[in-house]
Amino acid sequence: MFGQHLASSQRFDDEVDEGTANPRKQGVTEEDTMLRAGIPLGSFHGISIRLHYSWFIVFALVTFALAANYFPIAYPHWSVTARVAVGLATSVLFFGSVLAHELAHSLVAQAAGIRVHSITLFILGGLAQIAQEPGRPNIEFRVALAGPATSLALGVLFGTISIAAAGISEPLVAASAWLGLINIVLAVFNLIPGFPLDGGRVLRAIIWWRTGNLRSATRIASAIGRGVGYLFIFGGIWMVFQGNWGGLWMAFIGWFIQNAAAGSYHQVVLQDMLQGHPVSEVMMRDCPAVPPELTLEELVDDYILGSGRRCFPVVEGNRALGLMTVHNVKQVPRDLWPTRTLGEAMTPLDRLKWVGPGEDLSSVLQLMSTEDINQLPVVDEGNIVGMVARENLLAFIHTRAELGK
Ligand SMILES: [Zn+2]
Repeated sequence: MFGQHLASSQRFDDEVDEGTANPRKQGVTEEDTMLRAGIPLGSFHGISIRLHYSWFIVFALVTFALAANYFPIAYPHWSVTARVAVGLATSVLFFGSVLAHELAHSLVAQAAGIRVHSITLFILGGLAQIAQEPGRPNIEFRVALAGPATSLALGVLFGTISIAAAGISEPLVAASAWLGLINIVLAVFNLIPGFPLDGGRVLRAIIWWRTGNLRSATRIASAIGRGVGYLFIFGGIWMVFQGNWGGLWMAFIGWFIQNAAAGSYHQVVLQDMLQGHPVSEVMMRDCPAVPPELTLEELVDDYILGSGRRCFPVVEGNRALGLMTVHNVKQVPRDLWPTRTLGEAMTPLDRLKWVGPGEDLSSVLQLMSTEDINQLPVVDEGNIVGMVARENLLAFIHTRAELGK
């Protein structure tokens, strides 16, 4: 049970292992789906807050553990109704605490000018989806520390309440004592110095600040993270052999940490490879312009079939009006193709995300990941001069990796 924040461009990395020609991988990756699924609770400071379906499992488990195990032992004279009611209230406040931890990361990131998409509560706690890796070690340091500092403060607050409420309200003492303890556990757990746990991010920020090298700082911090992950896995399995089924949970958390640590390093390497290279190095220039009065049928017959091209800037005179893709075509029922024109079916330029030819490839990768798009038009002085797709970035990375550059 813990709080986590991951930069969202991490979703990209499993695609690289699989190569470029795997169509299944071109769309949304599993983790993306995970973060988008679930029930929206509302938004705070522009950050959408969601409950993933797996959260209900852990909410039920925590409430059950409190109402059926913890409270009956500490307060045997409580009625069943009292146990369940206090159990539910405590559980809600616990998840409120996890949310506060994630919000702290998110608000500090926002204050540093980093966009935060969403916070999702799921089976292992909370996940803040932050749009990019912090660009400087001191920002990373502050963003990472904000979460555990909040948990620690909540731990002290609940602990104080439990002492102050002694002799006044037994349920309040019971709930706040447990919440105080669990928040301190949350703070300490997250401070374990293995990336991508918060403590690992703090460690990475310090090494990064000392050496100026983000890649090697990430390598060290994520190696420790993987070690911590394996410790949890083996510790958990050992506990199961001792007859403690809680070990399964621990092994599960270990597996998650180990995976995330490996993925994070991979992602930093990718960013590093792309950094300093402009869009114009990889973009496809071979995008034929088409007039807006062309019908979909003509486009399909004369331009798409046979050429294999998938995107076409719609241009009138010298002015780009929008972009037509195979995706746009598929959204129109087939019997309308002979009459529907591109001007009607295209995505207009003002609704289109685009990049300039001089933009850095590492920020293009981030844009594609956060907006979940596979291709972007390259626009120069109002004209669509080309397209850049995920495949282009992958091909670029593969070539460089192959040549060892
Ligand atoms: Zn955290």
